[in-house]
Amino acid sequence: MQIGFIGLGKMGGPMARNLAAAGHSVTGFDAAGVRIDGVAAAASAAEAARERDAVITMLPNGAILRAVYAEIVPAGRPGAVFVDCSTVDVESARAAAAEAEASGLLAVDAPVSGGTGGAASGSLTFMAGGAPAAFEKARPLFEIMGARAVHCGGAGSGQAAKICNNMILGISMIGVCEAFALAGKLGLDPHSLYDVVSSSSGSCWSVNTYCPVPGVGPNSPADHDYRPGFAATLMLKDLDLSQQAAAAVDASTPLGAHAATLFSEFVAQDRESLDFSAILPWLAARRHEP
Ligand code: NAD
Repeated sequence: MQIGFIGLGKMGGPMARNLAAAGHSVTGFDAAGVRIDGVAAAASAAEAARERDAVITMLPNGAILRAVYAEIVPAGRPGAVFVDCSTVDVESARAAAAEAEASGLLAVDAPVSGGTGGAASGSLTFMAGGAPAAFEKARPLFEIMGARAVHCGGAGSGQAAKICNNMILGISMIGVCEAFALAGKLGLDPHSLYDVVSSSSGSCWSVNTYCPVPGVGPNSPADHDYRPGFAATLMLKDLDLSQQAAAAVDASTPLGAHAATLFSEFVAQDRESLDFSAILPWLAARRHEP
């Protein structure tokens, strides 16, 4: 395929590289002038999108996505599939898809889980929203960049799945950290708690795969001074998106709201470059609030 790729940052760069390595002809554009080996450089987003079979975007937020779509949709070849892999608000995802479809393009919102490691190794999970024909056209690309692609429904469904998943993750990581902090103050060895919880009803990804305690459980950012991994700023971004969505549809998410508040306080204290699991030592240093 002739593929345009816009946004060649920490995620987009390795994703574009994997598409090129699989034999596709990839033309990329990034506002910061990033160049990727094997990926031809376009002078503008519109040039990267012109005459392509597929155009992928991997951008920081919904406002930037909308601005880029205003530029690239008119350049798209009718029938091409436009796939947005950024994490953005559901409303922007739906607006971008509507704009693309009004111009005769196929549109998919397909945010990812798996982080920079998954982007590099081509093992991301894609959560996709859009018409079945659009998803099918994008599927071969998902198979190169990822290990799994789930078609969740119509436009915006991928973003909805992503923020619901990450709201669970933010809440569960805080729950796990609270338990290990409490266990420490009760004199319980964290290895013992890990052995119990990882095979009991408290088990979850935050314990079993990504244990926030250094030296306990499988290798995780906690074992590397909490270098990300998945940065606390990105967790805060996703929790804020979940709260924006909850307000828009009048959904009650009290723990999601509290998780957003805690990560907001955490990030405000110069911890934005740390992995989100670094909320463990921060919580452990706090005192009981009756
Ligand atoms: P990043 O900041 O490394 O990359 C974004 C890139 O977009 C930058 O290189 C920037 O120069 C470029 N850009 C900004 N405005 C542009 C424009 N108008 N035209 C062209 N390029 C433009 O961010 P990232 O970590 O690669 O994340 C990208 C998206 O993926 C975000 O929406 C993020 O929430 C999501 N995400 C990130 C991770 C992660 O672990 N990093 C995990 C899952 C999802």
